[in-house]
Amino acid sequence: MPEVLKAPLVVEFPFTRSLGPVQSAFLTGLRERVVLGVRTAGGRVLVPPVEYDPVTAEELSDLVEVAPTGTVTTWAWNHAPRRGQPLTAPFAWALVRLDGADTALLHALDAPGPDAVHTGMRVRVRWAEERTGAITDIACFEPCAGGPQQPTGITGEFEDPVTGIVAAARLDYTYSPGRAQTAYINALAGRRIVGERCPSCRKVYVPPRGACPTCGVATSERVEVGPRGTVTTFCIVNIKAKNLDIEVPYVYAHIALDGAGLALHGRIGGIPYDEVRMGLRVEPVWTEGARHPDHYRPTGEPDADYDTYRELL
Ligand SMILES: [Zn+2]
Repeated sequence: MPEVLKAPLVVEFPFTRSLGPVQSAFLTGLRERVVLGVRTAGGRVLVPPVEYDPVTAEELSDLVEVAPTGTVTTWAWNHAPRRGQPLTAPFAWALVRLDGADTALLHALDAPGPDAVHTGMRVRVRWAEERTGAITDIACFEPCAGGPQQPTGITGEFEDPVTGIVAAARLDYTYSPGRAQTAYINALAGRRIVGERCPSCRKVYVPPRGACPTCGVATSERVEVGPRGTVTTFCIVNIKAKNLDIEVPYVYAHIALDGAGLALHGRIGGIPYDEVRMGLRVEPVWTEGARHPDHYRPTGEPDADYDTYRELL
């Protein structure tokens, strides 16, 4: 059996978040080397602060300063820090209840090894040298001796508050398309399109997923389909996509390749966008070095009869 493909896949996007008055005060406070919590009607001080009481759902706004010193309530050792984590050397993830707070804050704790960490140990904030109004303004926690550090008297009113943050989201995958799609991708490299037929209902899936979702059985019989096909339905795209060098308007269509039991999608070219129609016969156009057809163009054949594709819409 040929080797199943795999490749790195990164999903990455910036997430812009506006801060309400409570989160704004919290992050601006960190920039000024002050930790602020919020007091509930019941008198509990929540750090990190939240906008609504988790018990009563009442809106919260009574900001209160807590000390940059605290106690570890629980922890776990991180043997292998990953990209973007607070420290590059192994460290502990710790929940720290700061002096004056009733809840604990999750952050990194810099310690030489897991033997140097224990629940109940005293720690203090190590501030980042450059602070911008973000949770990373706390570089990490570090062990310390002694009691609470005194508050500075900050009220939560700042001249130049942080009102928004951009949090970059990034997910690193090793993606494997599996046995069926590996065969599909390998066939594409030879400019052939290969699906798999369900042994029960005889439907040919393109691209194949390895199983028939209707019958719940594995598909294994490989079937070459196309290369020609029929437009079953389509839409006209009028909005230019970022990083896509295609003039609008253009047509994106569902195309049932000859022999396939369902339609795949592709762009239609070589014909004015307002002349594309259901039943139009098309063929793939490959560009040099591409791993899939760039688009589909009319073959010049007469349009397909509706009854030949009515089940493939
Ligand atoms: Zn089936």
